[in-house]
Formats: sequence, structure tokens, C-alpha cells
Amino acid sequence: MADFDYDLFVIGGGSGGVRAARVAAATGAKVALAEEFRMGGTCVIRGCVPKKLMVFASEYQEMFADARAYGWDVEDGSFDWSKFQPNLHAELDRLEGIYRKLLGNSDVSIHDSRATVSGPHEVTLADGTTYSAKHILVAVGGRPSLPDMKNADLAITSNDIFLLKELPQKTLVVGGGYIASEFACILNGLGVEVTQFYRGAQILRGFDDEARGLVSEMMIEKGVDLHLGTNVLEMEKHEDGIWVKCTNGSEAVYDQVMYATGRVPNTDGLGLEEVGVELGRNGEIIVDDYSQTKVPSIYAVGDVTNRVQLTPVAIREGMAFVETVFNGNPTKPDHELIPSAIFTQPEMGTVGLSEEQAAEQEPVEIYATSFRPMQTAFAERPDRVLMKLVVSKATRKVLGCHIVSPHAGEMIQLAGIAVKMGATKEQFDATCAVHPTISEELVTMRDPVRTA
Ligand code: NDP
Repeated sequence: MADFDYDLFVIGGGSGGVRAARVAAATGAKVALAEEFRMGGTCVIRGCVPKKLMVFASEYQEMFADARAYGWDVEDGSFDWSKFQPNLHAELDRLEGIYRKLLGNSDVSIHDSRATVSGPHEVTLADGTTYSAKHILVAVGGRPSLPDMKNADLAITSNDIFLLKELPQKTLVVGGGYIASEFACILNGLGVEVTQFYRGAQILRGFDDEARGLVSEMMIEKGVDLHLGTNVLEMEKHEDGIWVKCTNGSEAVYDQVMYATGRVPNTDGLGLEEVGVELGRNGEIIVDDYSQTKVPSIYAVGDVTNRVQLTPVAIREGMAFVETVFNGNPTKPDHELIPSAIFTQPEMGTVGLSEEQAAEQEPVEIYATSFRPMQTAFAERPDRVLMKLVVSKATRKVLGCHIVSPHAGEMIQLAGIAVKMGATKEQFDATCAVHPTISEELVTMRDPVRTA
């Protein structure tokens, strides 16, 4: 048997790569990991973590007004980016340090370098050093993609937003997915004048219509100037900002334009096709159910495979890979019934099928309630929440749960357990309510509002 420098060489120090490296090393394997930028990847450095901290920062504006209704003598403050940003980056530095330490403590050799695949069992670093490895795991993630249009480079992406020297006064956000909708809300909460263009009929395509309808209605209520069926036609740098002409013919000048129009896998120049790894139309690595590529010694996990672009999914794919390859127990990552949250304001949590998807599959009953929750109604805020269950008529199983509410992400994590276990509507009902809460509505909805 050939002698290799390493049992496993991981390319990419994001959520999937770091977890796979650590868990593989714990089996006694000799493991190396190369990362060209900062340890932690998109999630820690320019994604979920800084985004969530910005969500927290942006939520204070409404809290000041609420606090006054509850008897507190507080003034509306103003947000100071120059105070927040260093704290944000200090936190990211701390987290990056933890990631690095965890790898070191697991005896994973760290290479702070770009690495490319130069053979089925060979990796080459930027300085030309090569290493042999029995297995290679590609976990290089993805990056924001800009549409192919003139002056697209005038726009920033979610990569740049955390590094801005100052907060813009007037911003255009383009796109209607997770990132565009979350940042439209964040910037709006921080006091930026936000316009959002989405080319389709309603933002958050693919999610439950009623839920995304409420999110969009509340975003507009809170001040986001959302234009549906609208896209950028032309963009030019003018003295006073970025001039934008849109598809409905209107023109405006913005301090910043942020594009969040999807992400592409980071496979350019990685040497993959040269060694026989198959790539898809958008550059994603094609893998089988076990995350194995066409080259048996090369595996891939996370966003680079463009299966489900979520951190916890990448982590689970990484762990299933280790279980398969290093523990001799072939394990497929489970992509069924993944709960997720969209950190818009209001937040949305979702698991399973939307009403529309479920109705295409089988006859369903819809249980839903929308109301003004106690805490903000007291402060005379118009905010409404939605709690919704999509139930199979035949099996009574809850096929989908959709929540639009403060802390919907926290709620859906727990509701997700019941849905994943295959709970029926009657089992939800058999659970005693926790009163007074918003989530108690999930177990107290007696009659369907409609069938579909
Ligand atoms: P999405 O694919 O979710 O959304 C892309 C958006 O851009 C869509 O609204 C799409 O419109 C629009 N779009 C695409 N091309 C163009 C174009 N040429 N002109 C105008 N609009 C365009 O991508 P995101 O970048 O928002 O997020 C990427 C992934 O990251 C998500 O899929 C998600 O998995 C993950 N993510 C998860 C988060 C979470 O869990 N909270 C947070 C952030 C990201 P259309 O709908 O018409 O195609």
C-alpha cells in the first residue's frame, strides 16, 4: 500500500471542512487542512455570525420605543457604526482564534495557504509544496455572484458589507432571497434608507406563500421601500453616488448598491476537472449520496456541492463523510426536513413543505392563525405573527410548519424535532400549551382554516 503524507487533506477551513478535519483526526487519522483566507469560512467571517450580530444591533431601534410604552424613560438613540464595527471584528477575531485552536488541539496540521488538487492523491500549496493524501476533502464553499451587466463592479456584496468604512445613508439592495431580505431589514433597522428591488412577484421564492407574504408586508410597514417585479437596468458612477435606472423606468442615486443575487461554488482554478472530478453547470462539484466525487479518493461537502447552502448541513455532510471513510460505516447525510430560519424582521422559521408544495403532493388541511403578539401590541406596534401547520389529510402528519414571529428561529428548531419525528396534528394537540406565549398557538389550533 502506498505511503501518504496524510490520511486526509482538507481544502477549506469553513464549517464543513473544520468539522470533518477534527472528527477525522479524533479517529486517529493524520489530517491536514489548508485555508487561504481566515479560519471559520463564510459562516464565521462573512456570513451567519456577523450577520446575526448585525441583526441584534438593528433590533434596538424599535426596542427604545417599546421601552417607553413600558414606562422606561429612554430617548431614541442613534446608531454609531464606528463604535459597533470594531466590536464586531473583535468578536470575529476571537471566534477565528477558537477555530484555529480547536484544530490545533485535535492535532490537525494547519496550512495557511491556498491549495489546489494536483492528482487523485495530491495537493499543491501556493508555494509549490506538494503533499500526498489517501483522501482529499474539498470544502471550499462559495462566493457571492454578480449578474453579468455593465458596471456590476460598482455594487457591493455581502462580503463587503461588514468592512464598510461608514454606513451609507441611502442603499439599494437587489435580490429577494435570504441575503437580500435579511440585509434590507438590518440596514433599515440601523437607520439606513433602504430600497429593495426584487425581479419576481414576491420575495423569498420557494417558501410558504402566506408566510413570505406577511414578512414582506411587515418589512414594508417597518420602512423598507420594497419594489416587486423590478430590476436594475443600468448603473453608473455619478459624483453624488451610484445612479440607477430600473426596469420600470424610474431613476435614483444611492450611496451604495448591494447585490445579493445568489452564490456560486469556489471551484475556479482548483484543478478538479483536470484530475477527473465532475463539475455541474454552475461549477458545483457533483457528488454521490456519500459526498464522493467521480474520483474515488476525492470527496466534497458544503456549499461547493450546492446541495443545501446552510452551515449545519455542511457540518453534517462532513461528519457523515468521516463516518463513511474513517469509521467504515457508510452514512448518507440526511437532507430531509431541514429546519431553517430567515433573519428578516420579522423573523421566519420554517420546516417541511409549504402549503403550495404539500397541496401538489396530496390533500391537506391548513391550520393557521395570525395575530398581534402581546409584547408589541402593548407598545402599540402593528406587528403581526403567523403560526401555521400544513397537515396531511390521509396520515394526519404535520408536513410543514411555518412561523413568522420574534424568535421564529428558536421556535422552529424545537418544532422541527416533532416534525422530523413524524408527529401528527393530534400529537401536537396532545401537548399542553405553555401560557402566555406565542408558540402555544402551535398546539391550540382546533379547526382547519381551509383545505387544499
Ligand atoms: P438566493 O438564491 O436565496 O437568492 C438570490 C436572489 O437573487 C433571488 O431572489 C433571485 O431571484 C435573485 N436573482 C438572481 N439572479 C438575479 C439577477 N440576475 N438579477 C436580479 N435578481 C437576481 O441567494 P442568496 O444570495 O440570498 O443566498 C445564498 C444562500 O445562502 C441561500 O440559498 C441560503 O441557503 C444561504 N443563506 C442562508 C441564510 C439563513 O439560513 N438564514 C442566510 C443567508 C444565506 P429569483 O427568486 O427570481 O431567482
